[in-house]
Amino acid sequence: MSLPASEQIRAAGAVLAAEASRFSGYGWMRGTSGNLSVVVGRDPLVLAVTASGLEKSELTDRDVVLIGADGLGIDPTDARPPSAEAGLHAHIAARTGANAIFHVHAFDAVVAGHRWPGGVAIRDMEMLKGIGHRAHDETVVVPVIENDQDMTVEAARFDEVYAPATAEVPEVPALIVANHGMYAWGEDAAAARRHLEITEWLLRFQVATR
Ligand SMILES: [Zn+2]
Repeated sequence: MSLPASEQIRAAGAVLAAEASRFSGYGWMRGTSGNLSVVVGRDPLVLAVTASGLEKSELTDRDVVLIGADGLGIDPTDARPPSAEAGLHAHIAARTGANAIFHVHAFDAVVAGHRWPGGVAIRDMEMLKGIGHRAHDETVVVPVIENDQDMTVEAARFDEVYAPATAEVPEVPALIVANHGMYAWGEDAAAARRHLEITEWLLRFQVATR
């Protein structure tokens, strides 16, 4: 497989470092938790994902690893292992068409998944417009899947709860993994960030007012 140009990889790394710094400021990437990715090739699928085991508030544009559709590293000159969660990033990119997938350990997302393991139902909130839904008269469910260390298991669980957009109903571009964290995605990094920030806000509201 031919790899993307190094300038493209560095540019992706710079985008992800900036996002990771922002989310670290929110307390969503404590320790070395969470990982962020962007698609850098579609045919075949290649993602740049934040390297594992690094302090997420201090990433540089070099701190990304290239992975393929199976979540495994594809650059033979890069010995750094991708995050164990990279496989789910690649699956979400393939399944939804998103070009950016962000995963964080936001506390209120975990609390919400614990409180509503069958999915977090939200309605009549202005902020729902920020994830493409209506502020009135629509119940939007943020799905919850169980946690597992095997990303093929998690990918199958994703498929069970993910509802692709239809002409009438947009998708919900976010997912909670119980006792773990949340994912959000979008057509680019700005959209994924917006979906992550807004969904976390909505989950926080549900937890605070339950
Ligand atoms: Zn995680």
